[in-house]
Amino acid sequence: MIIVMERTATQKQLEKILERIEKFGLEPHVIVGVARTVVGIVGDKNGLEPDSFAGLPGVEQAVPIMAPYKLASRDAKQEDTLVKVGDVLIGGDKLSFIAGPCAIESKEQISETAHAVKASGANMLRGGAFKPRTSPYSFQGLGEKGLAYLAEAGRKAGLPTVSEVIEPNDVDIVSRYVDVLQIGARNMQNFALLRKVGRLEMPILLKRGLSATVEEWLMAAEYIMSEGNYQVILCERGIRTYETATRNTLDVAAVALARQLTHLPVIADPSHATGKADLVGPAGCAAIAAGAQGLMVEVHPDPNLALSDGPQSLTPQEFDKMVKQVLRVADAVKQNNLEHDHRPDFNHS
Ligand code: PEP
Ligand code: MN
Repeated sequence: MIIVMERTATQKQLEKILERIEKFGLEPHVIVGVARTVVGIVGDKNGLEPDSFAGLPGVEQAVPIMAPYKLASRDAKQEDTLVKVGDVLIGGDKLSFIAGPCAIESKEQISETAHAVKASGANMLRGGAFKPRTSPYSFQGLGEKGLAYLAEAGRKAGLPTVSEVIEPNDVDIVSRYVDVLQIGARNMQNFALLRKVGRLEMPILLKRGLSATVEEWLMAAEYIMSEGNYQVILCERGIRTYETATRNTLDVAAVALARQLTHLPVIADPSHATGKADLVGPAGCAAIAAGAQGLMVEVHPDPNLALSDGPQSLTPQEFDKMVKQVLRVADAVKQNNLEHDHRPDFNHS
């Protein structure tokens, strides 16, 4: 259930509501929107009815939320959530481009990539230091040394950074070096990890699981939010289907659907979705046309030499071309959908 406070509700009235919720043995979550504040109630409702709150001073209405994800639901908060990373606002009126290598391989590799993608309009740098590889014999990442290279490259290029954390024990170390923690597809339902990052005050980029339904993906976001961290960015990265010609199948409709179901920002990763460099641009354009608010793209100075995911990595030149193409698509979609409720303004600087 959510309690929608009146626009004019006072802090005192809000506190009274919170007290009442706690008296029922439930946990209130205050979500402050631009226009009004809502209070999400999570926990076993135990016969608690909207009537228990309707008519109380400061309360506009109490609404049951049917979806199993409550805090993530668009019913709980109608306006889009903006996740702030440094100077970058994800989910706002500008597209976000997160670019960088699959894995950080050396100081030179990450810093060369950082400068190149920044020049093409990327506003965040990615790079894996702890890699969730399918084979235990594949390159597993440089660990903390890699994180230090990433942080330095990001700082020098003026780009905030994102890197994946693959287990709860590594959360402290990874969060010390990066601006955004990534939860990878393989860990989307690692509930211990979700709870742990839910207790942090930093943005979390949550990838959709390889075989996760949209609802399971949103429930994973709910795990993080239920611990108090509302800064969640969702990333569609392709799902496993019977098709093997591409690495995964980009679920374009899920991008559009997620934009309807949740207020959280939704981006797409056309690199892991396709597995092929020459499909990354077309898939990225499709995701943006469907309403994605940004893209995560793997870029490597020399994809032939990449220690992981070379076949899907773009060269900096290819990335540059792709950004221009994606912006043209974004512009076209914007012009065609001026009336669309949830669509952001696609200006990009
Ligand atoms: C990655 O982004 O490096 C990655 C491993 O992606 P995913 O978890 O989507 O496979
Ligand atoms: Mn990769």
